[in-house]
Parts: sequence; structure tokens; C-alpha cells
Amino acid sequence: MEYEGAIYRPPSEAESLILQATVGCSHNRCIFCGSYKNKRFRIRSFDEIRHDIDEASSWGVEIRRVFLADGDALFMPQKRLLEILFYLRDKLGELRRVGIYGNARSILHKTARDLTELREAGLGIVYLGIESGNRRVLEKIKKGATYEEMVAAGRRVKEADISLSVTVLLGIGGTELSHQHAMDTGRILGEIDPDFVGALTLMVVPGTPLERETASGAFELPDPFALLEELGIMIGNCELSKCLFTSNHPSNYLPLKISMPGEREKALQTIQRVLTSRNRSLLRPESLRAL
Ligand code: SF4
Repeated sequence: MEYEGAIYRPPSEAESLILQATVGCSHNRCIFCGSYKNKRFRIRSFDEIRHDIDEASSWGVEIRRVFLADGDALFMPQKRLLEILFYLRDKLGELRRVGIYGNARSILHKTARDLTELREAGLGIVYLGIESGNRRVLEKIKKGATYEEMVAAGRRVKEADISLSVTVLLGIGGTELSHQHAMDTGRILGEIDPDFVGALTLMVVPGTPLERETASGAFELPDPFALLEELGIMIGNCELSKCLFTSNHPSNYLPLKISMPGEREKALQTIQRVLTSRNRSLLRPESLRAL
């Protein structure tokens, strides 16, 4: 397999074959993200991708899941994506699901019919990073999409009957917008009603614009208990019909896995217990946190 630069994938794609369909991120402007800063965005040629799929199919192992990297592979033209999905289906007989990262703009460039076509060709899950439901935060972090666009994009994926996994980012509002960020993020999650939510906790990445804002004092990261408070507000403020809400990414201080809405109250009680205790030993140690 040919990979260019560091490769990122959602935790739930740990067992998947990672196929690099695009290099970098088509947006690449979020002020907190350092993942693809050294990569110039490009769409790999079908020949390059076909070569990788041929190689994987020659390994003689059962490949049930494929994840299409990099940052926003859904940006690819519909024709190219379909070509890849059909070829995967032809070559990997045991394939059950293909996953992909898609930002809101890329999703909205696809029609509902396009997304349905992709689902029929094997696309099973889209991962959408919304980070926040607060309008000021979305602008400040240069997310490249508005609240309304996030909601429309998430709903369009769901309407096409593709599973939707949404990522939110604790701490991204800083101390200034912490409460509002948590409230509005809970609200947007309810409006999108995804199948999965993954809450991550902000870690300021060296070399990013956010690091410079932090150094100058313009941005201040909430302390671990304030971050946990955000998680509680989000969970308490989102109405989800059927969703697995997790905070078990290594960046988080308190790993939780909540089947919503049934386990919501239990999760809120757990969070409240830790908040009341102010006991740091109940939180993941700083040294074990990672992105
Ligand atoms: S869209 Fe995602 S990958 Fe691209 S810069 Fe923003 S956070 Fe990073």
C-alpha cells in the first residue's frame, strides 16, 4: 500500500483497511487542526487507488471493512467515488462496509440521490466533524460551515440511509464560550440526531493558529473539571432518538460509552459524582492523554 504522510482514521475504523483516496484535507483551515498542515490536497488517480486495492486483495485475508482516507475523501467527484466503491466490491468479496470522512460542504455538494447511489455502491458510514453547535465558535475556529449547513449535511446523510457519526470537541469554545458551546452543541446534536457521537477533548497542537492564540492569552482552555461540565451539559441538552454517545477517545478525561437516550441519566449521575468530588485521580492522567 502506498501512503503519503501521516494517516488518521476514526477509532472505530481500527480494524479497517485504510485506503488513501485523497491526500490531505480540502479545507485545511480549522485553527485547532494540525493533521494535514504539511500536505497539499489532491485526489489520487484511479490507477494509484486501483493498485492499492489489487495489492490488498492479493493478501488472502478477509477484508470486511475499508476506510477511505484522508481528511475529506467525500470531496471526490461522484464518478470517481463510485468507481472506487465498485472496484472494492469486485475485488474484496467479504467487504461489508466502507467508511469515509466528509465535511459539511462536501456532503452538501452531493445531492440526496448521489448519497443514495453511494450507499447502494457500499458506502456505509460518514464521519462528520462538527466540533461545536455555537455559531461564534464555528466562525472563530474557521470550520468552514455554518450551524445550518452542519444540520443540513448531517440530515442529508441520514436521509440517504447512511450511518452518521458526528464528532464534537470539548473545550473548543475556550473559557469564554464554554457554557454556550456546550449548550449549543447539545442542541445541534439533537437537530441532526446522528447514529453515533464521539466527544473528543481539545489538545492544543503545536504549530497551529490556536497554539499562537493560547500563547498570546487570546484563548484559554477550560480546566479538566470545566471540560467535564461541558460534557454533562451536552449530554443533558441533546435529544437523541437512538445513538451511541462515546467519550472514550484518549484525549478525554472521563471515558464513557452511553446508549442514548436510555443510559443518559446514569451517565449524568456519573459525571456529577466526579464533578462533586473534584478528585483528579478519577480522571485520565495527563500523561495518558493523546490525540
Ligand atoms: S476539516 Fe477536519 S481535517 Fe480538515 S482542517 Fe478541519 S478538522 Fe482538520
